[in-house]
Amino acid sequence: PGRYAGRVGLVTGGASGIGAATALRLAAEGAAVLIVDLSPDGEAVAARVRESGGRAVFLAGDVSREETWERAAWTAEESFGAVDVLVSNAYVVEVAPAHAMSPDSWRRQIDVCLTAAFLGARRLLPGIAERHGAMVITSSVHALVGLPGHPAYAAAKGGLVALTRQLAVEYGPAARVNCVIPGPIMTAAWDRVTEADRAKSVQATVLRRFGEPEEVAAAIAYLASPDASYVTGTALTVDGGWSVT
Ligand code: NAD
Repeated sequence: PGRYAGRVGLVTGGASGIGAATALRLAAEGAAVLIVDLSPDGEAVAARVRESGGRAVFLAGDVSREETWERAAWTAEESFGAVDVLVSNAYVVEVAPAHAMSPDSWRRQIDVCLTAAFLGARRLLPGIAERHGAMVITSSVHALVGLPGHPAYAAAKGGLVALTRQLAVEYGPAARVNCVIPGPIMTAAWDRVTEADRAKSVQATVLRRFGEPEEVAAAIAYLASPDASYVTGTALTVDGGWSVT
């Protein structure tokens, strides 16, 4: 039995990248997993879990909407039981300097990146606390350093670090809440980035390469597991040293 035997995990943005790797990792360690994503590709990730003998269900939904969290809570309950581990990881980004970003674009990014974590916590953290579970939020190095063209994304990701501390204080000692701060991780997020800009990002890391989604999933799986039993309210940077140079 793995670290997550008998536990129920919910992973948002689990159709792709870090979220998919996290869903697969939690399932491999014994969790039953509910994948929540806008993209129908989440079904394929759930199918992969089931093919390897694990338990997973996919729910299509927009995490920035309250009703999605209501459906997610019920779907988890009906499929596996109450949620023990919440991984809030879905995101959207639109790259533009502040003067060229529409207020609607700003609001959408704040809604999906930041408000969704609040909505998930609001719906599920009281139950998670009763079950002595954990929440992990995916922030970003944009929370630490200003990079051109990301006003809404950076504000949301910085907000998530503060929200992590806040939720840890409000729901401790029963539940632990932490976040990860990924650096350049090779996912669909980089599809729109030029080769030259990718090379620049790699050069900015100490480890001189992109991270793999599985390397962030391992950090998330640590933070939400009993191995991190004395860790709460913190941010674990997983960026190949990007932020220390
Ligand atoms: P990804 O594009 O591979 O996956 C993101 C997923 O979120 C997609 O499946 C998408 O459909 C889903 N999604 C988008 N809007 C949604 C909504 N409203 N409701 C539900 N699902 C929605 O990206 P990724 O790189 O795996 O990103 C995962 C997390 O990691 C994000 O929080 C991102 O900010 C963070 N991050 C990524 C990097 C990187 O370099 N890849 C760096 C720092 C932080």
